[in-house]
Amino acid sequence: GDVLIRVLACGVCGTDLRIQAGEFLAESYPLIAGHEVSGRVEAVGRQVDNCTVGDIVAVNPNVSCGTCYWCLRGRPHLCPSMRAIGVALPGGFAEYLAAPARQVLVMPSDLAPEAAAMMEPVSCCVHGLDLAGITAGDPTVILGGGSIGLILLQLARHSGAAPLVVVEPLQAKRDLACSLGADVVIDPSGLCLEDLRRRIDEATAGGPQVVIEASGHEAAARVALGLPRRGGTVLFFGVQQPSLEIPLRPFDVYHNEITIRGAFTNPLTDSRARQVLAAGRVKVLPLISHRFPLEEIAAALDAVRAGSAVKAMVMP
Ligand SMILES: [Zn+2]
Ligand SMILES: [Zn+2]
Repeated sequence: GDVLIRVLACGVCGTDLRIQAGEFLAESYPLIAGHEVSGRVEAVGRQVDNCTVGDIVAVNPNVSCGTCYWCLRGRPHLCPSMRAIGVALPGGFAEYLAAPARQVLVMPSDLAPEAAAMMEPVSCCVHGLDLAGITAGDPTVILGGGSIGLILLQLARHSGAAPLVVVEPLQAKRDLACSLGADVVIDPSGLCLEDLRRRIDEATAGGPQVVIEASGHEAAARVALGLPRRGGTVLFFGVQQPSLEIPLRPFDVYHNEITIRGAFTNPLTDSRARQVLAAGRVKVLPLISHRFPLEEIAAALDAVRAGSAVKAMVMP
């Protein structure tokens, strides 16, 4: 029931840096990381009927058990036995990858391999958008203008978020946010959290309805809870340090009816991500700032660590 894939592109994600540093989810080393994979089908097992040799495919890396409490309730991403390709199982920083057929999704053949490899991050953002609950006319703030923030920006825009504000310290990423539909971009560099909150209040005429933390940075997590207007929502999407603690006033959550949510991975959203990419609703090629051959995987990880890369792709 497996599919042998010749890897064409594999995105480098912040998670890969965590895995390299030994601090995140990986069960054992050595490990071939890489969970944002596209490629061409080279061979299929006898029982495989969802793809054929030559197809361009993307891989949903998150393999859940299918039989536990959460899997049976349509929430496979919360499966305690979930193991991810490129995290616990061998991943896409390689020439070939074997994946179970049910994790493999045929992509439009005219999509660039780098764009097809963005299926996984886009599918996570589709889940995040579902949980953010944006309705047309909702003032929305996205903290972080990296590849995830810029995908969420485009999805939020199509949901009618208005105005749409992106907070990002790097000029190049702010420029990209503007070109992809942000109404206002704010440089948080040198602003204290109180000043940043004031700027966001001004930009949204009284505070955002929806706040999406998409940076994984501590300062963003700290500021996020104080941002929404009454009745608003804060969505934690970025991967924060597991040990980080931030103060919370339960009275404010109660009195202002603040909704606090987290969005983890991509439950049943991969085919929706394919539609989003196929129709060009989310532009991912402008996000790909760096391309590396497989031999330069270390340089690819360095580029992401330095923060200058929006999205780096390894292309074996
Ligand atoms: Zn990732
Ligand atoms: Zn399960």
